[in-house]
Amino acid sequence: MLNHFYSKTLLTMAFFATALAATPLMAQEMMKEGEYKPEDTEFYEPVPPKVKPGENGQAPSDATVLFDGKDLSKWESVNGGKATWEVKDGSFAVKPKGGDIRTKEDFGDFQLHIEWRSPQEIKGEGQGRGNSGIFLQGLYELQVLDSYDSKTYTNGQAGSMYKQSPPLVNAMKPTPEWETYDVLYTAPQFDEKNGALLEPGYVTVMQNGIVVQNHTKLQGTTEYIGTPRWVAHGDGPITLQDHGNPVSFRNIWIRKIDANAKK
Ligand code: MG
Repeated sequence: MLNHFYSKTLLTMAFFATALAATPLMAQEMMKEGEYKPEDTEFYEPVPPKVKPGENGQAPSDATVLFDGKDLSKWESVNGGKATWEVKDGSFAVKPKGGDIRTKEDFGDFQLHIEWRSPQEIKGEGQGRGNSGIFLQGLYELQVLDSYDSKTYTNGQAGSMYKQSPPLVNAMKPTPEWETYDVLYTAPQFDEKNGALLEPGYVTVMQNGIVVQNHTKLQGTTEYIGTPRWVAHGDGPITLQDHGNPVSFRNIWIRKIDANAKK
């Protein structure tokens, strides 16, 4: 009896000793199977950096300010040389026949904030009334137009990706109030060796806080005549269009992002 008691006790102790020794392994196996505890959060990384938001549409702390109301030092003429559009009272306006202007810096994926205003004097019709444009990477036009109360073709009005995608709604304020665009842009990707399109570009646009383009797939470069086409390119500027109408711009800032970072 005694021997039997001891042997049973020893067996029990051996069982617990084995169980204790096996615990880390078992825990690892459990982790592998995805049975995490709520507090197992240390593998969620990287920790997002802190960014101080701007007040009332002003630039956040990590933005590149492209126009702060003072000068066009971040811009140049697409024809070479200085941007000659006129800066006045914290904004600048298209100089008719002054040519398009573009940022000196090139960008890939980005978040862009830009404010614009149609000319005070309401003049012309359709595409001739307050026409300008914001070319993303210098190639894809987000239309700027006084289309508050003026008819034109749907994919040519303000908030459209010109001749590709009309805005979801007409979010215009009455002329000549300031309009706001907040743009989220994912650049197209091309094969470095043969220039073939790997991924098209995408654009989301809020006009005055209202979504007008929702992850719209670009069809290619903006063409005045004919269909869009893809031409391989790298980073590109923000280009503003001189369409002969003195449209004003102010408070322009951009944040570089990596749209594919979390995919
Ligand atoms: Mg235009």
